[in-house]
Amino acid sequence: MTGTHIAAPFTPADRVRRIKESPSTAAAARVRELKAAGNRIFDFTVGQPDFDTPQHIKDAATRAMHAGDTRYTSVNGTVELRAAIRERMERTSGISYPDGSITVGGGAKQVIYLAFSATLDAGDEVIIPTPYWVSYPDMVGANDGTPVVVQTKAQDRYKITPAQLREAITPRTRWLILNSPSNPTGVAYTQAELHALAAVLQEAPHVWVLSDEIYDDITFTDQPLLGLAAAAPSIRSRVLTVNGVSKSYAMTGWRLGYAVGVPALIGAINLLQSQTSTCPSSISQAGAVAALTGDQSFVAETVRAYRQRRDRALELIADVDGLNPIEPDGAFYLFVDCEGLLGRRTPQGAELTNDQEVTLYLLEEAGVAVIQGSAFGAEPFFRMSYATDLDTIEDGIAAIAAAVARLQ
Ligand code: PLP
Repeated sequence: MTGTHIAAPFTPADRVRRIKESPSTAAAARVRELKAAGNRIFDFTVGQPDFDTPQHIKDAATRAMHAGDTRYTSVNGTVELRAAIRERMERTSGISYPDGSITVGGGAKQVIYLAFSATLDAGDEVIIPTPYWVSYPDMVGANDGTPVVVQTKAQDRYKITPAQLREAITPRTRWLILNSPSNPTGVAYTQAELHALAAVLQEAPHVWVLSDEIYDDITFTDQPLLGLAAAAPSIRSRVLTVNGVSKSYAMTGWRLGYAVGVPALIGAINLLQSQTSTCPSSISQAGAVAALTGDQSFVAETVRAYRQRRDRALELIADVDGLNPIEPDGAFYLFVDCEGLLGRRTPQGAELTNDQEVTLYLLEEAGVAVIQGSAFGAEPFFRMSYATDLDTIEDGIAAIAAAVARLQ
């Protein structure tokens, strides 16, 4: 009976039915399809650097392979990598963390997932300010938690305020997620804003904060940004700082992220990791050591490039009638308010009524791929990544402008 396909009834677990595919992954698949069909597409959906991983990092990984570093490592990562993370944390935050405070995983994404898995029981609440990274609510839901979405406002530059936080906290609140600089807006919390949030959290000792700082190297502010644990010592013991090498060092495919927090929490995450993946790739860990301890000029050079692209993209988008971009402090995304396009009609006579229709119109009329704001819990917006070359940014936004001009 070889080669015979046998169909069996399959029902996924409730956990799977609670989650959906990441919209950015889905959008990327659609772009690949259109490109394969021969269409020219300006792709602004990608959430990863367009640069290649620096050579010294690749070399370190190659050396590790040749040296036989090809076996399981300890669950919480190699001694060298934990030391490199400790040094990095000390350099950027001034905090000296003991060894048991650090864990590494297969990307920040996996570490965040395990952190929820390690802490959430059915009905536990997680406060997620909008616009949020698409994966947070699904990761909370997959781990039996309840996402409590807080709508932020334009006047607050789309950051949660102390009053909003106070109102969202209940006896069931387990976590607040902060992501600074943010995907998708690029806005970052100032030290004063972090202090003000910490003051609210001081009154709610049952609430912990997952501080996702994956874009902290990619900032355009005059002062370097301080992470939450450094900015708010009064709540430091309840902060889980999450970071990784994906964005800063163009290492998204290496799948290496880490978290730093109190040893009891880190221990719970390690326990779960020991029964899931055991440890992240030994080769990637060697690469991450080189990334964190080696020459940092790649980071400075790429941040200069992102800044130039941000400035150009902002300038061009702001000139399009009906579009209103949020000025980012960091990361490589532009979140664009497209309310001004709603109510207009396409050349085919269809009225644009929401950001999904705007996104579809831009794909069909302009060959421009962006992701609708509703995927990030905020409407009507779209996110465009400027982790691409200046020519693509200029030509793509010119195509957007031309398509918008054809609306009535
Ligand atoms: N956190 C945010 C806000 C992100 O945008 C991403 C990736 O897009 C991640 C975490 C996951 O990064 P990693 O590649 O380390 O899993």
